[in-house]
Amino acid sequence: MKNVLVTGGAGYIGSHTCKLLHSQGYNPIVLDNLVYGHQEFVKWGEFYKGDQSDSKLIKKILEKHQISDIIHFSAYAYVGESVNDPIKYFENNTVGTLNLVKTAIESGVKNIVFSSTCATYGIPSEVPIKEDLLQTPINPYGQSKLMIEQMLKWISAAEDINYVALRYFNASGASLDLDIGERHEPETHLIPLAIEATLQGKPFYIFGDDYNTADGTCIRDFIHVMDLADAHIKALEYLEREKKSNVFNLGTGNGYSVKEIIQKIEEISGKRCEAVIKDRRPGDPDALVSSPQKAFDLLNWSPKYSDIDTVISSALNWHKKEAQA
Ligand code: UDP
Repeated sequence: MKNVLVTGGAGYIGSHTCKLLHSQGYNPIVLDNLVYGHQEFVKWGEFYKGDQSDSKLIKKILEKHQISDIIHFSAYAYVGESVNDPIKYFENNTVGTLNLVKTAIESGVKNIVFSSTCATYGIPSEVPIKEDLLQTPINPYGQSKLMIEQMLKWISAAEDINYVALRYFNASGASLDLDIGERHEPETHLIPLAIEATLQGKPFYIFGDDYNTADGTCIRDFIHVMDLADAHIKALEYLEREKKSNVFNLGTGNGYSVKEIIQKIEEISGKRCEAVIKDRRPGDPDALVSSPQKAFDLLNWSPKYSDIDTVISSALNWHKKEAQA
């Protein structure tokens, strides 16, 4: 069994990736400071509570488990918070990753798969978005992730380490067996908030219906969390096979508007959603849709669970399970 260090393995995408790693014969070793992660989501492999900038702890884990591959999720990921407290984001995400990478190189790690984001593109000049589009983030969160991509590019050119940066579009859904799912505290994302409002018969607030889209609400590309998990394993395999660095978008190539998502939730839940139009939320681009062709071609990856019915029904089932707990 190959050991893989998973930083942020108690979080949403990290825990789903650990589940899949385990089922494919890898041994995930989780490091998480539990600021936003959930210890009960760590069900596969050993757990260390700690910080990515704790070089002493990282060194100990890497050496003890003879690790040469890291999947690096741990980061703060609230856009609004990043605008109000950019230092928190640059310190934890950017500086924290620099510390992690420095220790990893010293301990002989060869491969890093890094969680990046479509927020690095800012307001895209072209949709669907290809990987070579100019990256101009419009908030400190996206900037903190872009800075990491840029650091990794220069570091991998100089050192004996390669990386794959995966730029996620909108992570969504839950493991189909409902072992784990999406739990953010606070929750800010469209699908879980709209599901909660619909099931509880409370209003759901749409942030703006005057965008430059067919129905006026923003369009996003929703990718099922188990498909994201699969891409991380394929990225590890790519690094092993190709021994070179690369970046990939992870999305479906299809966009849905906020109103279309609400309609889907109503259709699948059989309940009405009381949608109320509010002001725009600052920093929301009209449409973010990926071109995932590069990941299809070079990672041999393609989404299996990201049709919108599976995304919404798994999220809905998970939400019902959480509500009963
Ligand atoms: N959104 C909304 N109401 C909410 C939460 C989100 O209208 O309560 C909209 C948001 O303005 C954006 C889209 O849903 O246009 C997706 O937002 P989310 O935070 O889920 O993901 P993002 O694309 O910002 O990463």
